[in-house]
Amino acid sequence: MGEVSTIAIDGPAAAGKTTLALRLASRLDYLYFDTGVMYRAVTLAALEREIDLNDEEIMAQVARQISINVVPPTVDDGRPCTVYLDGRDVTWAIREPQIDANVSLPSTYAEVRSEMTRQQRRIAERGRVVMVGRDIGTVVLPEADLKIYLDASAEARAVRRLRDYQDNGQDASYNDILASMHARDRLDSQRDVAPLKPADDAVIIDCTTLTVEEVLDRVMQLIDQQEMDAQ
Ligand code: C5P
Repeated sequence: MGEVSTIAIDGPAAAGKTTLALRLASRLDYLYFDTGVMYRAVTLAALEREIDLNDEEIMAQVARQISINVVPPTVDDGRPCTVYLDGRDVTWAIREPQIDANVSLPSTYAEVRSEMTRQQRRIAERGRVVMVGRDIGTVVLPEADLKIYLDASAEARAVRRLRDYQDNGQDASYNDILASMHARDRLDSQRDVAPLKPADDAVIIDCTTLTVEEVLDRVMQLIDQQEMDAQ
């Protein structure tokens, strides 16, 4: 009893959520689940089918029709998880700049979100999960035991995203990344349905000048404190 079992990590693009969540999940032996990959997979499916991303109704159909499967890494190439779209490994395809530039529009659609949210809640049902996204603490798991909102300056986040691209051997410029990230953050935080914002009971951590170790220590302290208080 009193175990911190469901942990929600939200925040803007490239704030370091994935790194933190992976380290946390590995330390606690919990499931790591990144909900962003689901919105990316819907976007990829639509682009491949040459569907107009502005057509909300068709996008909702796509979200219902496709099968997205997220499993622990099947290949040792630095991937945090393996993502299947209708049985095909799309782990790297959903990380292309074209997906970054388009993913926020389908993510504004209520029916797309309700389908994704339904699947995400089912995954979190068994507990012992670190779930990452934009609306986990506010909408998907409002009863999460611990909610973290990880933030950082846009410039620090753009530098991190540039490194991600370079590590994957992808071409990108700092200025393009910064512009695309600003646009995405704006759409994510201004949409009507499940906008990006900290839950009222979230702990906000600004990691602009913090190392991953420092953020991890802070979160572990929060967990320990909460578990002690519950005893
Ligand atoms: O986290 P990541 O950058 O992979 O997310 C990609 C996009 O998916 C976000 O910019 C946002 O538009 C959408 N998303 C969302 N809700 C989530 C996770 C991601 O709307 N829970």
